[in-house]
Amino acid sequence: MNLHPYVVTLGTAGGPRFWGAGAQQGHRCGISTAVVVGDAVYLVDCGRASASQFAAAGLNPKQLRGIFITHLHSDHTVDLPGFLLFGWMMAGREDNPVKVIGPGDRGMLPAINPNASGPVSPQFPDAPTAGTVKMVEHLFRAYSTDITDRMLDSLRPSPYTVFQPEDIQVPVETGFHPNDNPTPDDVEPFVIYRDDLVTVTATLVAHPPIAPAFAFRFETAAGSVTISGDTAPCDNLVRLATDTDLLLHEAIDMDWAAAAYSDVSAATREATLEHHRKSHTTPEQAGQIATAAGAHRLALHHLVPGNANPEVWAQAGRHYDGPLQIPQDLDHLSFARTPSPAAHRI
Ligand SMILES: [Zn+2]
Ligand SMILES: [Zn+2]
Repeated sequence: MNLHPYVVTLGTAGGPRFWGAGAQQGHRCGISTAVVVGDAVYLVDCGRASASQFAAAGLNPKQLRGIFITHLHSDHTVDLPGFLLFGWMMAGREDNPVKVIGPGDRGMLPAINPNASGPVSPQFPDAPTAGTVKMVEHLFRAYSTDITDRMLDSLRPSPYTVFQPEDIQVPVETGFHPNDNPTPDDVEPFVIYRDDLVTVTATLVAHPPIAPAFAFRFETAAGSVTISGDTAPCDNLVRLATDTDLLLHEAIDMDWAAAAYSDVSAATREATLEHHRKSHTTPEQAGQIATAAGAHRLALHHLVPGNANPEVWAQAGRHYDGPLQIPQDLDHLSFARTPSPAAHRI
């Protein structure tokens, strides 16, 4: 079988916002990437409008083998109910459920920001940091009226026969601890999924205070793609992406961030910018990471802001000699195996 591996950039904007204004409002949909290998489709993250973008891309839910979630921020998960509830209508998946693979429960609260002016407590103390399995259960419960109706009246099978949620188990030997060691050094990429077409490995990336936060690599017989998730520059990501055929990396415009918080106190602005520096990556840094990893191609996505001038993102090319793409939504990017940029230069 010719695998023709490629990704479809279903949505390329990051952050829980509708970027832009007027007719441009929401021009880029929320972060979501379809990985296509032969007839199979694997989804990474489910940002705003990703379910309808999946349909607009001409992809069929029957092709879907797995949904992979890098971390549980809303800009990566807000359309998961769209996939679960409309995808539930897929026939014939009872013997072959779609895996929904993502982070487990954090297990403890993150530290409270020292700038808090008073006590802060979680909204839902009984489940303040739900993982993927619990999140899917909560979503199904939220739609209990719909699910009961369709099971009792339309005789649909349980939605769990179509979607099988699974929390990623972080190997103990990494030394991972959500507060004390959220991004251990030298993580050996670990397998989270395997079938006849792909092996998916993960690593822990740096997106505090979210923990765990993952990057994923899809390895096929015809090429590989590595998707960074949300992260500051991170050696674990470089290791995961070593010699990958396509690196899809997040990027933030820090000049935009500095201007966006100009109406708050200097202390609050500095705290916010510090958060972005610890949790995200500039386009120039993304270029450096791609070079360090020897990535054969680089594309930036999870663009923040989602309405920046393309020249902002082109700065990645200052530190990366290989092919650089700034995709629009619904672009196709091949990750068929190619020689590395270094090999090109010889
Ligand atoms: Zn994000
Ligand atoms: Zn995030």
